[in-house]
Amino acid sequence: MSLQWHNPSCITNAILDIRLPVAYDVKKVLCQLDELGCRKIEIRSYECLNPIIFSDLLNATTESVFNSIGIVTRFAPDVSEQAWQQLCDHHPRITSIILHDSPDSKEITSNMLLTPIKFVGMQISGAHCCGVIHPDYFTSLMEPVSEAHHYNSCLNRKIGIDLEGNIKNCPSMTQSFGHVSNITLAEIVHQLDFQRVWHIAKDEVDICRDCEFRYVCTDCRAYLENPKMILASHSNVVTTLILENGKSGVPIL
Ligand code: SF4
Repeated sequence: MSLQWHNPSCITNAILDIRLPVAYDVKKVLCQLDELGCRKIEIRSYECLNPIIFSDLLNATTESVFNSIGIVTRFAPDVSEQAWQQLCDHHPRITSIILHDSPDSKEITSNMLLTPIKFVGMQISGAHCCGVIHPDYFTSLMEPVSEAHHYNSCLNRKIGIDLEGNIKNCPSMTQSFGHVSNITLAEIVHQLDFQRVWHIAKDEVDICRDCEFRYVCTDCRAYLENPKMILASHSNVVTTLILENGKSGVPIL
């Protein structure tokens, strides 16, 4: 079984954090991601943003190569479920909507493509809420498993734009490579410094390199036990799962 991993796109996935007033030209960023061949994007907001705002932004994607658009935003009591369903029906590239800080935990679907719209009680108050390493996020699909053999399972070919419009490997990282107003994404993604974290596979990471689940688990390089050590283990590793055979296994939160 071949575990090679290839992808023709220079950037395969992106996270765009937005707030009101929007601090950068989101549509320009979406166009640049389209030109880079990026297929998967996630737009996150920690505030209540209504579907009209998302619909306006996504009007820039109707001719794009995106095949998966995820939306994460705070539950807004004055926005009806039908409004979110209509957003999905109007923008079939949307593959999921998560409404956090919701009083009810439930899931509905859109009418046309049955896109999941999840209402979750957890509050996602900032980029720091990302980076959870947990068995719930394990995947055994060949594509991500093959990728994890060679590259970082979260950051490979990812680009992130933080709330202020700074271009990073992901919005949680501290290092900025410039602002979207002053430099294009294409100028940044080929920089070796930007690509450095792409190549940190689990085989090199402290603790992870000895874990038998390392290729099905995700990684996060934004929150490290020792931020000065690029290969340090994740900072939230506090428990070690003891496998049935008695050996220590995957670190979990
Ligand atoms: S590196 Fe960590 S914080 Fe950044 S996107 Fe991945 S999981 Fe989230």
